[in-house]
Amino acid sequence: MANPDSPARPAPSRALPGWWWRGGEAVGYGRLLGLGSLLATALALALLHPPTVHWPALAGVVAFHLVAVWLSFALPWHRWSGWALLAFPVVSMGALVVVTRAVPELAGVLVGFFVLCFAYAGLFLPRRGGWVLLPAALAAYFGTLGQLTSALVVRTLFVALAWLVLAELLRRLQTRQVALIDQLRADNLIDPLTGLANRRGQARFLTEAEAGDVLIVLDLDHFKQINDELGHAVGDHVLATFGGLLQQQLRTRDRAARSGGEEMLVLLRCGETRCGEELVRRLRDAVAREQLGVTFSAGLAQLRPGQTTEQAIIDADRATYCAKHAGRDQAWIAGDPRNGIPDVRVPWDAASSTGLAVTR
Ligand code: GH3
Ligand code: MG
Ligand code: MG
Repeated sequence: MANPDSPARPAPSRALPGWWWRGGEAVGYGRLLGLGSLLATALALALLHPPTVHWPALAGVVAFHLVAVWLSFALPWHRWSGWALLAFPVVSMGALVVVTRAVPELAGVLVGFFVLCFAYAGLFLPRRGGWVLLPAALAAYFGTLGQLTSALVVRTLFVALAWLVLAELLRRLQTRQVALIDQLRADNLIDPLTGLANRRGQARFLTEAEAGDVLIVLDLDHFKQINDELGHAVGDHVLATFGGLLQQQLRTRDRAARSGGEEMLVLLRCGETRCGEELVRRLRDAVAREQLGVTFSAGLAQLRPGQTTEQAIIDADRATYCAKHAGRDQAWIAGDPRNGIPDVRVPWDAASSTGLAVTR
C-alpha cells in the first residue's frame, strides 16, 4: 500500500494541491501527521507560553519538522519498502513528547494524536503495522504522561488494545476496498463472455503498440448460421471457447480483445509477421481439435514506422476482407498497396511452403 500512485490517478483530496501528494497517498497523509505535530508545537509556543527553558527544544522540533516535510518531497519513497512510512508516526509522536514536556497540560489533549497515528498504520503500513508501531507509541505515550504508575500501566493496556483494534479494522477495510477496486477495474476492461479484453481494454493495450508489432483481425466464418441453426446459447459457447483457445496461444506480452460481435483483435509484440502466421496456424489447429464446428478468417498487418494503430487496423481489416472474399477459413497479410506491395495469403501448411502465396 506504500506504492506511489500512478500519475494518472487523481489526488486523494481536493482540499490540498496536487503537489502535496508527491510520493503517493501514504506519503501525503504522513506529511499531514507531521504537520499536525508541527501545529501543536507552534500553538504551544505561541499561546501557552511554556517556560523559556523549553523554547530551544520546541524551536528545534519546529525546525526539524520543516526540514523533514521538505525532505519528504525529495526522498524516493517508491523505491523503499512500505515500512519506511513508519518514520511519519514515529517522528510525530517524538515531537509530542517534547511538546508535553514543555506544556504538561497538553498531555491529555494530545493523546488523540496517537489514535491518528494508529489509523495511519492501519491504512498505510504493511500488515501488522500497528504491532510494529506499538513499542514506539508506548514509549512516547509514557513520555507525554511523564510518569509510570501501575494504574497508568493498566490504563495503557486498554488504550493500546484500542489502538491495535483500530489499526487492524482499518487495514481490513482498506484491503477489502483495494480488492474491490481492482476487481471493478478488471471488470471494466474485460469482456465477460470470452474473457478477452473489451473495447475499453483494447483501446488501452493499443496505446502500448509500437512499430514492428503485428495486429491481427479475426472474424468467425458464417457465425450467424450457428446462431440461426443451433441457437444463441450454442453461439455464445462457441464464442467463449474460441476466446479461451485464442488466449492460450498468446505469450504474456501479447494482447487480445473482442472488438465486437464475433470479431477479435490481437496485438503481437513480436517484430515480424511470421509470429502472426504461426499464431493463426496454431489457433486453426486448436479450433479443429476442439471440434467447435466453426472456422475463422484473419487479416494480419505489421505496424509500420509512422503509421497509427488505426491505420494498421484498417490494413488488417482489408486483409480479413481478402480472406472472406477468397473463400474464408484463411489468413492474409496486408501489404502496402501504395508502394506496390500486394496483400498475400498465409499458407496453412508452413512446412510445405517456401514462401507466401501471392494470389492478388
Ligand atoms: P462472415 O463469415 O461473413 O463473417 O459471416 P457471419 O455470419 O459470421 O457474419 P455476420 O456479420 O453476418 O453475423 C455475425 C453474427 O454474430 C450476427 C450476430 O447475431 C452474432 N453475434 C454477435 N455477437 C454475438 C454474441 O454475443 N453471441 C452470439 N451468440 N452471437 C453473436
Ligand atoms: Mg463473421
Ligand atoms: Mg464480423
